[in-house]
Amino acid sequence: MRIRSIGARLTIWYTSLLTLTFLLLGGTAYGLLAYSLSRDMDTALNGVAEVLAQRARVEGSAVVPSDVDELFRRFFGFSPLERHIEMFDPRGRRDSRQPPSRSNQLPLSPKALKNASQGLSTFETVESTGSYPARVLTMPVIRAGRVTNLVQVGMSLENMYKTRRRFLLIMAAVLPFGLLLAGGGGWLLARRALKPVDIMTQAARRISGEHLDERLQETGSGDELDRLAKTLNDMLGRLDDAFHQIRQFSADASHELQTPLTILKGEMEVALRSQRSSEEYQRVLKSGLEEIDRINHLVEGLLLLARADAGVLRMDLRPVELKELLQEIYEQMNVVADNRSISFHPSSLETVSVRGDREHLRRLLLNLVDNAIKYTPAGGSVALSLQSDEEWASVRISDTGIGLSKDEQERIFTRFHRATEARSQREGGVGLGLCIARSIAEAHGGRIQVESTPGQGSTFTVLLPQT
Ligand code: ADP
Repeated sequence: MRIRSIGARLTIWYTSLLTLTFLLLGGTAYGLLAYSLSRDMDTALNGVAEVLAQRARVEGSAVVPSDVDELFRRFFGFSPLERHIEMFDPRGRRDSRQPPSRSNQLPLSPKALKNASQGLSTFETVESTGSYPARVLTMPVIRAGRVTNLVQVGMSLENMYKTRRRFLLIMAAVLPFGLLLAGGGGWLLARRALKPVDIMTQAARRISGEHLDERLQETGSGDELDRLAKTLNDMLGRLDDAFHQIRQFSADASHELQTPLTILKGEMEVALRSQRSSEEYQRVLKSGLEEIDRINHLVEGLLLLARADAGVLRMDLRPVELKELLQEIYEQMNVVADNRSISFHPSSLETVSVRGDREHLRRLLLNLVDNAIKYTPAGGSVALSLQSDEEWASVRISDTGIGLSKDEQERIFTRFHRATEARSQREGGVGLGLCIARSIAEAHGGRIQVESTPGQGSTFTVLLPQT
């Protein structure tokens, strides 16, 4: 089963890790406790046995002393009921002189006897008649290099086992309680930390195409979630701009298409209202054709831009002699310039070849030359030049026309934008020419730059990468 909530997943992970840590720590603590308890017991047993062996060595007697209680208290801190002290002769026989033991007698193992004969002490855990095993130390008494007796000291492991069990019980009671507390706390913390994500999700759900101006709440704390909200808000801002541009574009395109259609319809309606001469019909048809040309031109431009936007602009790439192309454009446009009393002259045309689509490049350059002539008053001039360096071929189209303010220079490349000055002109397009020119330049890996002074003229430079 997949758990969908990050908070729940975090809590499960956290609690599992905590359980593992508790178990490891508890296990280690239990091990250390058991080790230190049994070491303490062995040390105490050894202490008692040493004293008895010492006495037996000095006094020559191997009898269980009367101050056993005192002796145990000295080394253990208390005198246990279940304790054993026995004296044996070197062959392992119980000394008949000693008083009977307070508790049951423990056996002397063959291993302990063998070790003692070699002068070695032996610690053993043996089953006793009580309910708990006993810990036994068998120590040899050595006099003048000979084993004279064996001292056996033992004690029930009851206390030690009970302490160990108590520790385990405490652990078993504390562990689930601690885990519950830590898990619950972790869950609450995770929920609190992730609450802004829920709020953001709800806010994001409310934002649709119609409400792109809404924004997610930023806390200003600068943490990860605040940065996420900021990033999403920036993205919403960009989407809002893009939506706005698309809406504006659709409105402008519809408007530009509607104008010639209205004219066409109006002219036809007027022509049909009464009987006309064939010349009049011809005039109406000619004017209608002009409007259809305008629509055609506009639709072509829109299609080209849409293809360029989608990155599917069809390009027939071949080497293009730019000088030759510019000369053709010059010849074509010189007539237009002449009609408007504008001097148009090509200057310094180098022979440069670029790899490109000839028809697209022609459209680009024609647009720019057409604009230069359109926005230059009679008596002005338009110049054309072509230069190249190692990287770029650059075509410059300069005019002494109306020019553009800094602000307008930025905006003339947006769709359907026409500068205020241009709008007052009788002639002029719909404001798509420069967008198309720029799209074509960019599709060739190039760009268009503009320098202009209002009232003095403009220079448009097309930079195309050299082949
Ligand atoms: P249009 O069809 O209006 O010429 P363009 O996209 O070609 O559209 O040009 C956009 C605007 O840029 C024009 O309306 C005009 O304001 C400005 N512009 C373009 N070329 C020039 C120029 N050579 N001199 C002054 N203004 C220009």
